[in-house]
Amino acid sequence: TGRLYQFKLVLLGESAVGKSSLVLRFVKDQFDDYRESTIGAAFLTQTIGLDNNTTVKFEIWDTAGQERYKSLAPMYYRNANCAVVVYDITQASSLEKAKSWVKELQRQADPNIVIALAGNKSDLSARRVIDTEEAKAYADDTGLLFFETSAKTATNVNELFTSIARKMPLD
Ligand code: GDP
Ligand code: MG
Repeated sequence: TGRLYQFKLVLLGESAVGKSSLVLRFVKDQFDDYRESTIGAAFLTQTIGLDNNTTVKFEIWDTAGQERYKSLAPMYYRNANCAVVVYDITQASSLEKAKSWVKELQRQADPNIVIALAGNKSDLSARRVIDTEEAKAYADDTGLLFFETSAKTATNVNELFTSIARKMPLD
């Protein structure tokens, strides 16, 4: 018994913010200080059990952040049901880049797409340049879920994906 729902999830964000690391943490509960950067995109799946016998399976497309792959992104977000847009709390430019991805999603992706903003590398608090409150205010104004995460320590990684699962239309 129980119901299974499948959703396509895409990760977007500047290169080196930790997209692949968040996926590796979520899917395998591992972290790697010397990850090779993603070429094109990688595909993984992970399931989350919610209450009342409901299982959500995410089909995850982890895209490469490099400019030269930018033209491929629409292929991944076009059919996506949800997106995680990632920035690095130690890199100011990465939040600007995240905002531009959010705008692009809001113009070009499915109008019902669920978008989460993730401020990653929260373990590097000594090098923080992006205020939690500033990012949270932007996320609230824009209708995004918001978490500060650390793929390294696993802080808020399951919470991020679980809150997306809970926000998906399950009917
Ligand atoms: P991507 O290009 O966005 O996929 O980024 P990667 O996942 O390849 O990570 C880029 C670099 O940041 C790697 O050296 C990771 O080990 C490191 N990294 C990723 N997430 C974290 C984190 O939460 N904390 C710290 N300290 N480093 C991280
Ligand atoms: Mg990557």
